[in-house]
Amino acid sequence: MDRKIYKTGQTRGADDDQIFQNRVGRNSTVLIPFAVWIQNPEVRAKQYENGFIVLIPPGEYFETENEDISSYGLEIGVNTLVYYERRDEWLKFNPEERGFFPPSSRTSPLGGQFAARIANTTSANDERINIGYTTSGLKGAGIRLYEYADTDNLRTTRVQLEAVFWHAVDAEEKMLGAGMSQDDISVRRAAKIDEAKNLGLLDYARLEEARILNAARELVCPLCLEPISAAGFLSRLPQASGRERHDLTVTEINLFHIQELAYGVFNHRPYNLGWGHHHCNVVCKDAGIQATLEWMATVLRRNRMLN
Ligand SMILES: [Zn+2]
Repeated sequence: MDRKIYKTGQTRGADDDQIFQNRVGRNSTVLIPFAVWIQNPEVRAKQYENGFIVLIPPGEYFETENEDISSYGLEIGVNTLVYYERRDEWLKFNPEERGFFPPSSRTSPLGGQFAARIANTTSANDERINIGYTTSGLKGAGIRLYEYADTDNLRTTRVQLEAVFWHAVDAEEKMLGAGMSQDDISVRRAAKIDEAKNLGLLDYARLEEARILNAARELVCPLCLEPISAAGFLSRLPQASGRERHDLTVTEINLFHIQELAYGVFNHRPYNLGWGHHHCNVVCKDAGIQATLEWMATVLRRNRMLN
């Protein structure tokens, strides 16, 4: 349970070929595409705890050189990198020929001017190009902008996520089954609920509106609204003893974003996060709850299962 809550403060995994760091805190250095930076005052105004790096495509940088990026508060090698993702750009605007170096730091000044992640092609001469943030001590430049959350939000979000977990209809019996004592359960549950209330969280009307809890204040999956079994949080699911009061589907439970992630919107906040079925989360991903429900209704209508 602790581990599940802890992991909500981390970003998702990234493989070695990506520019992103693999599973690090959501308050890490943030990578921001140049287009997002110039279009979004909120993104520019934000104070990022561990800084940010703006990634500007080579075409944009070299062909609009006269348009001064410093008017946006940016400087190559300080808080901005020319970022190569395409081979044609690499050939046309080769950074090494321009005296550019790969960076040596994630924080300003970056100590270099460019990074590259260019896929290989079927042609024998077109090998993959990975330059910048590739060494074991400095792997990945930062996190995705939409994953960012500051320390304060990380803390309040964790408290709320545990407080709502204790609203699962079978939380007590499943935690007993997992070896926690009745006293420990009572103490921990009361402490987490108090902590949430003291932070001004656990507003039941808002939680119901956000589809995190139902009207009976039970933890539900934000998409299908089925009450969630606490067993889905445990790494080793307890064996059914035949004495359980609740007969819920036991399935893997994941962190669930109520509003889908989008650039320029900082969505890791207490009332935007609940717990949901892994499969419901997959179905919902990117589209969002409302659009997914409408799509499902259309599917059922076409199948003549709904008028
Ligand atoms: Zn569900």
